[in-house]
Amino acid sequence: MANPGDVVEILLPVALERTYSYRVPFGIVLMPGDVVRVTLGPREVVGVVWDGDGVLPASSNRLKYVEERLALPPVSDHMRRFIEWVANWTLTPRGMIMRMALRAPELPPEKPRLGYRYKHEPERITPARRRVLAHLADGFVHEKRALIEATGVSPGVIDGLVDAGAVEPVALPPEPPALMPDLDFSAASLNEAQALAATSLQQAVSARRFSATLLEGVTGSGKTEVYFEAVAEAVRQGGQALIMLPEIALTNQFLDRFAQRFGVRPAEWHSGVNPGKRARLWHGIAKGEVAVVAGARSALFLPFADLRLIIVDEEHDSAYKQEDGPRYNARDMAVVRARLVDAPAVLASATPSIESRVNADRGRYGHITLPERFGGRALPAISAIDMRTGGPERGKFIAPGLATAVRQALEAGEQALLFLNRRGYAPLTLCRKCGHRFQCPNCTAWLVEHRFRKSLVCHHCGHTAPVPRHCPSCEGEDTLTPCGPGVERIAEEVAGLFPDAHTVILSSDIHGSAERLKQELDTVAKGEANLVIGTQLVAKGHNFPHLTLVGVVDADLGLGTGDPRAAERTFQLLGQVTGRAGRGDRPGRALLQSYDPGHPVMQALMSGDKESFYTREIAIRAKAGLPPYGRMAALTISDEDRGKAESFARALVKVAPFDAALRVLGPAEAPIAVIRGRHRMRLILQAPREFALQDYIRAWLAAGPKANGQLTVEVDIDPMSF
Ligand code: ADP
Ligand code: ZN
Repeated sequence: MANPGDVVEILLPVALERTYSYRVPFGIVLMPGDVVRVTLGPREVVGVVWDGDGVLPASSNRLKYVEERLALPPVSDHMRRFIEWVANWTLTPRGMIMRMALRAPELPPEKPRLGYRYKHEPERITPARRRVLAHLADGFVHEKRALIEATGVSPGVIDGLVDAGAVEPVALPPEPPALMPDLDFSAASLNEAQALAATSLQQAVSARRFSATLLEGVTGSGKTEVYFEAVAEAVRQGGQALIMLPEIALTNQFLDRFAQRFGVRPAEWHSGVNPGKRARLWHGIAKGEVAVVAGARSALFLPFADLRLIIVDEEHDSAYKQEDGPRYNARDMAVVRARLVDAPAVLASATPSIESRVNADRGRYGHITLPERFGGRALPAISAIDMRTGGPERGKFIAPGLATAVRQALEAGEQALLFLNRRGYAPLTLCRKCGHRFQCPNCTAWLVEHRFRKSLVCHHCGHTAPVPRHCPSCEGEDTLTPCGPGVERIAEEVAGLFPDAHTVILSSDIHGSAERLKQELDTVAKGEANLVIGTQLVAKGHNFPHLTLVGVVDADLGLGTGDPRAAERTFQLLGQVTGRAGRGDRPGRALLQSYDPGHPVMQALMSGDKESFYTREIAIRAKAGLPPYGRMAALTISDEDRGKAESFARALVKVAPFDAALRVLGPAEAPIAVIRGRHRMRLILQAPREFALQDYIRAWLAAGPKANGQLTVEVDIDPMSF
């Protein structure tokens, strides 16, 4: 506790490691975690009382006073330790992490809610008035907004009725930030394997201790139903639960499924939630009034009052890795957060990350498996179409074998999905006559033609240009030729093959808004569309009960990158997407168009022998000392001037402290050498598993050259690709 006149150390939302000293003004007492407003130079900023009891001998009499303590819940001890942990792990100044934890606390003034109750019949009656009175005839109080919506009258009609004394206005309490789940609303009756899994997770919740469990079940095995029971247990005991999802999986479908189990939707937390709603939720979560939150990465920094369970669904998903700002993997940080609050973490996936599988194999994580689909449904039969012998004619992308299968599915009244993980019309556009290609002016990347948006787009910086009629280089007319397919081009081919199909393209850039995309996903789930063409966003967690056929247009895409994680990622993505088939009453199948059907990934998918795939992949990692058998970090040095970036990187390598266990590779150009006009040089660090990589990098950067001008050094611990 710090009393007036004492000095406190305050963490401020700035990119410096240190805390700042301020004096406690008269009239207030400060505790660690208190949120305060202070002046920093000319600015006013919000900070958090940080270290210990904060009482330090006054080193200077010229210290500024804290301006005020804000009426916000203090940042808990757990949360402060979590912030320290994330900062330390990602080598990010603590203040920048603290900022994520204080993201939404500005509570807007509570809008009064008004309701109305019936009193008596007015003297003068109109059709509009009659509608209102009929609606109020049940004698209950109806909220103004709902009343207007239900009756379609203007607010003036209601005011008139109030003036006439016919209805009575009633002040309503503020709307709760989220409704309480009803634990008995409709629990699924679980099969034996599911029940065992659910009991085990419920026991983990009841234990009130940290544990981490990998919940590995084939697609459609009921992982969601199972972890809902663990969520129910946390809520039953009066605690809170967090369900983390890769952002795009926060669909109506998931929210509705939760509602089918618990009667209400969970609170949603992601970038699409409006600020007022976020603020109310944030406070509701801090007070413990919000029991269950379904959220994207940033939900990890919510101020839960009594968190008793964290679920990470689709734990292998690379969307959990934040790739700008502090580079953290939300799956790993979820485990850290669970440890700090003594709660269980459950990682769910049909195709776990190699990291989680190794943790489970070693006994560091519990391992629960659901080997079969619910209800005796079969996993889809997967086979390959060898594009070397059975491919389509030139300029087409759907092999005759796949076209036949789609036709059969459509004729049987079923739904088919063609999957291609490439947005736009064509990945490359070139001039047939002179070979001109369209390159992004800001990045080392080709521009991708998007026909819906009628433009050429850079997928790295968003640069957009109209598609010219003439080649800008040789002035050739109608010589521009698309090379290779994107989903839009597949849609064009499909329109020719199946003119009567109801086709939907699911791609993040086509629908304009998340809301529209959610609607399109609903049309697919309901079976209104029978032919779906989609990018990876269809792979994630959706339940399309009418879908029986999945065709992967280019199964090899992603394997040729040279990235050590390429095989794992392709296996996961194709496992997910083929797993969309046959989740309803009819069995499903999947066809992989491949030029290399003998590849271990294709073989594992076709045989269904997941174990041998993991065994092989894990052996490769172990042999090469790659994660999780070794540690890696990537340092990206970027500058508008290539020479500056490169010489800085070289200077850095020169002063790398010697350590026989550590290898520093590079500098080399990053895989995308220029983004947004900034040249990027990369250093890769590889070290044994026990190596204190963060400490090493911290010491190195502190001793190395100082970044100046607009040069930046970004550290990425456990990079997703390297
Ligand atoms: P996963 O998350 O493993 O892919 P889901 O939890 O989505 O599997 O379950 C797949 C389908 O089976 C869903 O439609 C789900 O409602 C249904 N299902 C799973 N378990 C049960 C159960 N015990 N009772 C009724 N339906 C179930
Ligand atoms: Zn660009």
